[in-house]
Amino acid sequence: MKSTVNEGLYRRARGVIPGGVNSPVRAFGSVGGTPAFIRSAKGAWITDSDGNEYADLVGSWGPAILGHAHPEVVAAVQEAATRGLSFGAPTEAEVELAELIRSRFAVDGLAPIERVRLLSTGTEATMTAIRLARGATGRSLLVKFAGHYHGHSDGLLAEAGSGLATQAMPGSAGVTPEVAAQTIVLPYNDPVAVETLFAARGDEIAAVIVESAAANMGVVPPLPGFNAALGRLAHEHGALLIVDEVLTGFRAGPAGYWGLEADYSPDLVTFGKVVGGGLPVAALAGRAELMDLLAPLGPVYQAGTLSGNPVAVAAGLTTLRLADADVYEALDRTARAVAEGVSAALSAEGVPHTVQWAGTLFSFAFADRAPLDYATVKQQRQEAYPALFHAFLDAGVHLPPSVFEAWFVSAAHDERAIGRILEAAPAAAKAAAA
Ligand code: PLP
Repeated sequence: MKSTVNEGLYRRARGVIPGGVNSPVRAFGSVGGTPAFIRSAKGAWITDSDGNEYADLVGSWGPAILGHAHPEVVAAVQEAATRGLSFGAPTEAEVELAELIRSRFAVDGLAPIERVRLLSTGTEATMTAIRLARGATGRSLLVKFAGHYHGHSDGLLAEAGSGLATQAMPGSAGVTPEVAAQTIVLPYNDPVAVETLFAARGDEIAAVIVESAAANMGVVPPLPGFNAALGRLAHEHGALLIVDEVLTGFRAGPAGYWGLEADYSPDLVTFGKVVGGGLPVAALAGRAELMDLLAPLGPVYQAGTLSGNPVAVAAGLTTLRLADADVYEALDRTARAVAEGVSAALSAEGVPHTVQWAGTLFSFAFADRAPLDYATVKQQRQEAYPALFHAFLDAGVHLPPSVFEAWFVSAAHDERAIGRILEAAPAAAKAAAA
């Protein structure tokens, strides 16, 4: 594995970009070493600036369900780009993407989405959801769960999972105490804690926000009925339920993780990642009576110069149109093959671990028992991961550079890619055991 060019680029990057990266987890902070500076990606494979080729299990942190640079997505982007990069005016493709998100997020007659607003990042989607919930209810308090990440807006950075956990940070400097006091953080998968809070302060709570399945502290699925209980409690007390599907939406399953449960109705839903197919598109969606409180119809303001950007929308629309039943079957098959193969290798080396699942999403926790919440996630033998990560990297497999992240497969992971991962697994497991 050559690393001369990567190392030179990292040195140069640190001279101009804080920490050398534009999003903290990319810096390999918790695994050590030099990040691979990526030159190109195709299908299941990425190539770094030294020419090393890796089977990729990061998938741009979620969007690449079809694999990198799918020819039809690239063609749609090229075609859209030739018609203009950005208009700052509405387009037909935006309407099509909004309609497709709405029709795809429906199961067995349950269809919680009536309106969709497109934005550029998941952070904007959750930030706007909260503003809208406060505008709709006239209340201030927000409830979130420890270990859940909803983007980097001020009120959502308390105990926010992967990015901060990777840096061993409890929250962020620069968030004022007044703002922090508006967010109450509860333990995940503990309905009694939610019930107790609502009993005490129910009339102050604007909304509960939850990842439909936690996937930013590794994958930790909700206990059966947990999300439904959140909806029931919120509604009994006049509060809203915001379900964050930025990571899980159209990846965990065809209608997100919500579609795998479909035993409750969220008021607002946020999307990102897959809906942009690798370009910056996110969405806030929900019931018409709430969504129509957004400007220009209502008093809750939200806007964006590049919202609904035509090139980005072309990528998202084409990706979602191509994501049919065969794609979800392929994601599931590949995820199971990788998880089972790596798990068998870890077992053979006597490394205690569990595999956590949320639809087609999975991750490993280095513990005997499946963690249920952030406190138990943090108790795992985290030190096993850097050794596993680097052994895989040296063998040409690109894992997420943090134990607190999900592993992302794509429908383009063919036998060669899966073979590369499984061949690397025994030596990686041995390294993790050391
Ligand atoms: N919500 C969830 C569940 C996420 O996983 C993320 C990003 O990883 C976000 C929100 C923020 O999205 P973005 O990084 O596009 O701002």
